[in-house]
Amino acid sequence: MTARILVVDDIRTNIKVLEAKLTSEYYEVISASNGPEALEAAVIQKPDLILLDVMMPGMDGFEVCRRLKANPDTAHVPVIMVTALGDPEDRVQGLSAGADDFLTKPVDDTAMFARVRSLLRVKLMLDELRMRERTSASLGVISPPVPSLHEDYAAAQILLVEDNPRDQVRLQRMIEGQFRTEMTADGMDALNRARQTEYDSVVVSLSLQNPDGLRLCSQFRTTEETRNVPILLLVGPDDQKQLVKGLEIGVTDYVVRPIDRNEFIARLRAQVRRKRYQDRLRLHYQQSMEMAVTDPLTGLYNRRYMASHLATLLAQSASQHGTSVAIIDLDHFKQVNDTHGHPAGDDVLREVGNRIVRNIRGIDMACRYGGEEFVVLMPDTNLEASEVVANRLLNAIGGKPMQTRSAGEMTVTCSIGCTASLETDTADTLLKRADDALYEAKHGGRNRIVYRPS
Ligand code: GH3
Ligand code: MG
Ligand code: MG
Repeated sequence: MTARILVVDDIRTNIKVLEAKLTSEYYEVISASNGPEALEAAVIQKPDLILLDVMMPGMDGFEVCRRLKANPDTAHVPVIMVTALGDPEDRVQGLSAGADDFLTKPVDDTAMFARVRSLLRVKLMLDELRMRERTSASLGVISPPVPSLHEDYAAAQILLVEDNPRDQVRLQRMIEGQFRTEMTADGMDALNRARQTEYDSVVVSLSLQNPDGLRLCSQFRTTEETRNVPILLLVGPDDQKQLVKGLEIGVTDYVVRPIDRNEFIARLRAQVRRKRYQDRLRLHYQQSMEMAVTDPLTGLYNRRYMASHLATLLAQSASQHGTSVAIIDLDHFKQVNDTHGHPAGDDVLREVGNRIVRNIRGIDMACRYGGEEFVVLMPDTNLEASEVVANRLLNAIGGKPMQTRSAGEMTVTCSIGCTASLETDTADTLLKRADDALYEAKHGGRNRIVYRPS
């Protein structure tokens, strides 16, 4: 996994050292020697990760980090702060500024590459989501989410997996009142819980016995429902090797024992933030996808989606019987609006949509084609077979009155044009033939079906 890394340090030698290490692992390195330069490089050069020195004259690393995280263009880029001191206060301050991790100088190679790889993995996933985001943003529906430093942490759900009774008590005390916590000593129980509850973070003790901590982490990552839950690993000061392994498996973060309370809380908060941001991106993507393909009034597919789906169906040579199409147009619908008002008309359209969906088969697709026109696609269906469906639809729509909220009951009939595909048909020619049949049905007196053989 190659990536572009921005190294920010006011001392030229420090940049050179990190640059040499990173390029030897085939990362592309760019650099900045002060805060303002770093902010500019982050926007223009779009790094995948930033290694940020804390102690710099003028704007210090904390401030740079805060600004990076406050800018929607750079907020998603992971930041590793490089500090000279092992002071927990420094780390807490950095985490509150939105930093994703820390390295202490002199930088240990194994630790650095493990952190870099792990954060890049997260970044890659976020990039994928953000890219889909842009694809759907052109439809201009809801404004896209941005990462936020302020979340409702007290409502966040944390699962602690620790089998040492004394550490259980310590951990629970440390974060009491900060999050909603659950505790278990049993790895399998933890996994089962996490399959049912969506935790914001799972804290796993590396020294867990059954199964051992790393095995549990790996099970979390390979289980469908828990694949994306953030995992915070609790390690001892001599567990470097296992820690690296853990980060490779996909552990999101870690805390070294003896645990500093403030750092523990700050790291959990960072996990909660990232989790919430990911969730928002996913949800937003789903919503905009839905909006892109559905008609808001009836919830049926929209015309654009139907057309592309029909093209796909026609391209499938596997289909034995071809594809049948029915165009359904409500009769004298303008009068419904004129007599009962537009809201009553909308109620009728919604009900027609419901009745169509209830009367087609699972493989068929219903769409709102235009104002009071609907299309049903019937894959692998010849004209004879489509007659059954078309008849059912004619009766389902015109056969019994519809309830409207503002104007009571009314009966609305429809006319249907129906045809089946030829080998040479495109979506356009097929729909055109169905439309011609519909025209004939209207002129023949409405409330009827006309079949146009291919
Ligand atoms: P025909 O039997 O020939 O199809 O007559 P018609 O009145 O149904 O056809 P026409 O195309 O003249 O009118 C369609 C009407 O559908 C006009 C418009 O007011 C109404 N309509 C279109 N979209 C909507 C909508 O979203 N809501 C409501 N309430 N009415 C709509
Ligand atoms: Mg009509
Ligand atoms: Mg019409």
